[in-house]
Amino acid sequence: MDYPSQFDVIVIGGGHAGTEACLASARMGMKTLLLTHNVETLGQMSCNPAIGGIGKSHLVKEIDALGGAMATATDLGGIQFRVLNARKGPAVRATRAQADRVLYKAAVREILENQPNLWIFQQAAEDLIVENHRVTGVLTQMGLRFRAPAVVLTTGTFLGGKIHIGLQNYAGGRAGDPPSIALADRLRALDLPVDRLKTGTPPRIDARSVNFEGLEQQWGDDPRPVMSYLGSRSQHPEQRCCWITYTNSQTHDIIRGGLDRSPMYSGVIEGVGPRYCPSIEDKIHRFADKDKHQVFIEPEGLTTHELYPNGISTSLPFDVQLNLVRSIKGFENAHIVRPGYAIEYDYFNPQALSYSLETKAIGGLFFAGQINGTTGYEEAGIQGLLAGTNAALQVQGKAPWCPGRDEAYLGVLVDDLITLGTQEPYRMFTSRAEYRLLLREDNADLRLTEKGRELGLVDDVRWAAFNQKREAIARENQRLKDTWIQAKSDAAKTLANITGSELTREYSLHDLLKRPELTYAHVTAFDPVAVDEAVAEQVEIGIKYAGYIDRQQEDIDRLRANEAMLLPADLDYSAVDGLSNEVKQKLSQLKPETLAKASRIPGVTPAAVSLLMIYLKKRG
Ligand code: FAD
Repeated sequence: MDYPSQFDVIVIGGGHAGTEACLASARMGMKTLLLTHNVETLGQMSCNPAIGGIGKSHLVKEIDALGGAMATATDLGGIQFRVLNARKGPAVRATRAQADRVLYKAAVREILENQPNLWIFQQAAEDLIVENHRVTGVLTQMGLRFRAPAVVLTTGTFLGGKIHIGLQNYAGGRAGDPPSIALADRLRALDLPVDRLKTGTPPRIDARSVNFEGLEQQWGDDPRPVMSYLGSRSQHPEQRCCWITYTNSQTHDIIRGGLDRSPMYSGVIEGVGPRYCPSIEDKIHRFADKDKHQVFIEPEGLTTHELYPNGISTSLPFDVQLNLVRSIKGFENAHIVRPGYAIEYDYFNPQALSYSLETKAIGGLFFAGQINGTTGYEEAGIQGLLAGTNAALQVQGKAPWCPGRDEAYLGVLVDDLITLGTQEPYRMFTSRAEYRLLLREDNADLRLTEKGRELGLVDDVRWAAFNQKREAIARENQRLKDTWIQAKSDAAKTLANITGSELTREYSLHDLLKRPELTYAHVTAFDPVAVDEAVAEQVEIGIKYAGYIDRQQEDIDRLRANEAMLLPADLDYSAVDGLSNEVKQKLSQLKPETLAKASRIPGVTPAAVSLLMIYLKKRG
């Protein structure tokens, strides 16, 4: 048969991890095959139609900085854009976009279909071909064999997937899709540590049955943020409004009344669910004193009446779902289009992976996405990009790329998974990154695009735009240093009105921008030069936060110089002055062997690491 059967890299699964994995490998020039259940579900959002948010937008921007698809698809499919934490510091600011499911999926598919070196084939993978502890290919449902020295597995919630609604359950990968049973059985037979997790989704509601009167409206931001570094507002489709409503004591009574038929509370579900995206039954159980919970009503798209009620994920029986929904203001006559459900699935302990995301047990086999115990499109996408890159590097005979915690949220994510494992679905937060002032969403390109170019991930268009931006930042910084405001000038008087103190001598715009009361817009108002918004943002953040950024860089340099320092097994952490009790307890319990390992324990801050270092040096 003249169908191509030999590839450099095979990716199984066309979800968020799989699409980024096959794009990365193909961008690096590898002959890549994407095997997926259904071409119609490429890039499908299984749950919430939204991309980004706190900690997650950092990952999306990193994917983008490395040439991936997620941010571009978001700009093409986003129907509401906001910056969360806009009034807080730049480290925790996060872009979030509500996306039209159809437009998002179409954008991902178009990018995939136009990617050179990539073959897409609709087929379930049933088995892996493994020879001498190395993967050498994949066997599909209809018995086709595809060969490749590297395979990336990104099967999401599909391995041994079981869907629960009340006490009823059935096999499924997500609602409407088949599970992956044969492959799950095969993987269980290999030497890989497997366990079960669960996640859930809310019932969807027909907007025509909702009474929006009196509900709080929520529009996107003006000016509207953009997700991709190459994106523009002109790409965004029509923008839509969201609404906010609340559960109430009647809703909570209905839920309590149904708990005996809840698969979670009756013990039918074994897997652990996402702590930060709990079901509504979990919320009323865990926060029993709260008399209401917020529900964001989000449109699923421009061409559908379906709404996503964010905050009422549930696997209660359908009659309870209907009653609880109809007890909520605005939903009194709601028509449920799709019931909510929970899904249990196999995941593999990520501690059995190397930093490249290759399994330690089987050479050439890489895992990415939900299969590694994470939750979320963004967490999956960035792992896919890394696994696809490292699969390609391996085929090229090159060393893997393993970014550190001080380079990218990707580094934090992989390091957390590999050193700590996960017992519950792992999602990203800015608080997981100890160097978050350096790892901002606004500077992911400055951190990663050069590396992406070196790896072969970044094309000429992105590279040219990036260089232009980098040069513009340098030029603008220099211009602010060279432009002076004279004391007693009109400009000095205007600025004095803002700061409340007179300028007694001449100041450069660069020095003025260091003042907390003054913004980039204030200091450049007298000397307007056309500067791109993104360039102005970088210049402003760089100058305003220079002190903190330098300090964080010093912490990193110091740790790098001392990371091999050994921590004796009998070290008495209670004797180290300045450490919090929590840190002392964690260190005594976990007994890290080196300073580097200590620094990776959640809660062990860079300041705590410095104290440890000083203590060890004094101790000699
Ligand atoms: P997926 O997006 O699941 O993609 C897997 C792909 O692999 C699919 O295309 C599938 O068809 C394909 N595939 C599987 N097996 C095979 C095979 N043998 N052969 C060929 N193709 C195969 N995330 C959150 O952040 N918050 C939430 O609240 C949340 N709730 C969720 C609720 C539900 C019900 C579900 C199903 C998911 C939920 N998620 C949630 C998770 C989110 O959908 C995933 O984190 C994300 O989609 C994972 O991406 P992935 O690429 O790893 O897998």
